Amino acid sequence: MFIQISPERLIVQLESGSGYTYDKSGRLLNVRENGWFVVRGLDGRMAAHQWGSGGRHDVKILSEQEKTGVHRRTKEILRAAESAASNGLAFFSEGGLQKADISRWVNQALLYDFSRDEELFRRAYKPVGILPPDQYSAVVVQATEGCAWNRCSFCSFYRGEHFRVKTQAEFLAHLRAIREFFGDGLSFRNSIFLGEANAPAVPAEELIPLMEKAESALASSMKDFRGFYSFAEAGQASCRSREEFRRLAGAGLRGVYYGLETGNSELREFLRKPGTVEDVLSSVREAKAGGLSVGIILLLGAGGRDYFDRHAADSILAVHRAGLSGEDMVFLSPLEIEPESPYAQAAEKWGELPPHDVHRQSMAIRSALPPGVRSSIYDIRGFIYA
Ligand code: SF4
Repeated sequence: MFIQISPERLIVQLESGSGYTYDKSGRLLNVRENGWFVVRGLDGRMAAHQWGSGGRHDVKILSEQEKTGVHRRTKEILRAAESAASNGLAFFSEGGLQKADISRWVNQALLYDFSRDEELFRRAYKPVGILPPDQYSAVVVQATEGCAWNRCSFCSFYRGEHFRVKTQAEFLAHLRAIREFFGDGLSFRNSIFLGEANAPAVPAEELIPLMEKAESALASSMKDFRGFYSFAEAGQASCRSREEFRRLAGAGLRGVYYGLETGNSELREFLRKPGTVEDVLSSVREAKAGGLSVGIILLLGAGGRDYFDRHAADSILAVHRAGLSGEDMVFLSPLEIEPESPYAQAAEKWGELPPHDVHRQSMAIRSALPPGVRSSIYDIRGFIYA
C-alpha cells in the first residue's frame, strides 16, 4: 500500500493497481479497481467506465447494491491505510504535509457522512445536466437554470424545465449553499462553470455582477483559480460582439463552448439548433477576438449514413473557417439517440451508425483539423457531476 497526500487530495494506492482518491473534506472522488474507473458523483450516484482498443468505452451506472459494495470496500481500504500509517509505511507528500497528516486525512475520509453530503448537494443544486470534458472538476454555479432554447431535436438535458435567471437573493443563497456543500473540497477545484446551457444569453451587465459575487464567494478557497467558463449558443446569446466578449473576459470569463454539432446547414436545421453555421462561426471569431478560448462541439454520427460524408466534410470546413488556434479545442461527441426524442422519430430512415463507423467518422474529422488545434472525444454517456 502507498499513500499520497497533497494539500488537495488523499490517494491510497494498492499493489494490485487499485486506487482510491479523496478530496480535502474526505469526500470519495473516484476508485480504480479491476480495470474499471468508478466516478462518485457529487449527488451520490456512481458511474463505472472502462476504455478499450478502437475507441471502445463501456459505461454503467452502479445500482444501490453496487454502490454499497464500493463504500464498504473503500472503508476497509481506509482502515488498512490507518493502521499502515501508524506503522510508518511508505508515503509521499506535497505542500509540506507530514506523516501525522495522513491519520487526520484518513480519519476524515473514514467518518465522512455521505447521506448529509447528498442532502447538502440537493439543497445547493438542481440536477447538473452536462459539462464539457475539460470542466468536469469545475465548481458549477447555476446563475441560470435550464436552456433558453430547449428545442434541439436530439437533446433532452433540460426538457420540461423553464429557462430563468436566478434573482440576486436566490443567487447569493445558491453560493452559500455551494460553499457549505463543498467545504474544504473546494481546494480541489480550479474553475467556475457558469451554468446552465447558455449563460451568455444573459446580457453582460446582468452577468458580470453575478460573476463578481461568485468569484468573491468561492475563488479564494480554490487552488490556482483559472476563471469562468460557459456553454454558448450563438443563435441565443445576448453577447455577440468582441467588445461584449472582452467585457466578460475582463470579469474573468476565460472560455466558451459552442454546440456547432455539424457544419452541414441542412443537417443542423434538422437538429433544430438555434442560429446558422455562419452565426456560430462569427460568434466564435468574435469570442476569440475578445480574448476567450473556444471549444467547438461536433456530434458524431448525426444524420446517420445519409449524411456521413457531408457531415464530416462540412464540419471540417467549418472548423477551418472558425480561425481556431492552439488554446482551442474541438470536441467530438458520439450522438446518443434517445428513443422518444424528436430526432429518433424523424431519423428512423437513416438508422444509427454502428460504433466502428462513428469511430471512422471521428478519425476522418480529427485527421483533417487545422494544425495545432487539439481534439478530444466527448462521450456524454454516464456523465455525472463529480
Ligand atoms: S441549445 Fe444546447 S442545451 Fe439547449 S436544447 Fe439545444 S443542445 Fe440542448
